[in-house]
Amino acid sequence: MPPILPALAPRRATPILAPFTRTAVARGLLIASAAGENRGVRIIDLSHHYEDGMPVFPGLPEPSFRPIARVEDDGYAMSEYHLLNHIGTHVDAPAHQIAGGDTLDDIALDRFVTDAVTIDVSRREPGPLTREELKPHLPRIRPGDIVFLHSDNARNWGSEAYWRGWSYPDAAAAGALIGREISAIGFDGPSADPVDSTTFELHKIWLGAGRMIIENVTNLDRLPPRAQVVVAPLKVRAANGAPARIFALLPE
Ligand SMILES: [Zn+2]
Repeated sequence: MPPILPALAPRRATPILAPFTRTAVARGLLIASAAGENRGVRIIDLSHHYEDGMPVFPGLPEPSFRPIARVEDDGYAMSEYHLLNHIGTHVDAPAHQIAGGDTLDDIALDRFVTDAVTIDVSRREPGPLTREELKPHLPRIRPGDIVFLHSDNARNWGSEAYWRGWSYPDAAAAGALIGREISAIGFDGPSADPVDSTTFELHKIWLGAGRMIIENVTNLDRLPPRAQVVVAPLKVRAANGAPARIFALLPE
């Protein structure tokens, strides 16, 4: 009797790890899934919880996360969520402020699964960051990187101080980072502009250049200067922004 599955033989001979061997971190992740444990990689969660009473940008309506069925009463649990797409840990697509700009589902996933460079700005006064201040960091930023600015502001999540407690590039500094062809800029604060902005000048610079803005991240103090990250916003059609689970993969 001939072998039942001769066609599979060559495929079996193909190293199954090949697509995953590009980085040590990805190898670690594969080991983790194969072994059922997190051997080789440590995962750092960069997202805040969505929940009733969570902080929302001044002036925006509160979300609600309401159970509409309970296992004890109904045999199953289900919930109804009401929320704007620009609250909590989320991603702004260019379409958020640019007519005809890319929506999240237009953007290739390799812009979301990439390296993040974290710049520590936690020891300066919060507020606009100049090109001069960023200059020493520019050489280590590669095309396609996400840049996170660590202002140590996540500890203020839930307090009034949160809305003033972070630093963001001014127009010239934003231009310099865009010149490094970054994928996105991210903050442990609520916006690319100060919260009292009515013109959103800095949003328009980032989004007008096709860059994404990532707002309200946390745990940036736990990241090394460069780390692989996964930014996973909801796949909503034509989304101008969406809540995102964001995490970093650190080799152990
Ligand atoms: Zn937003």
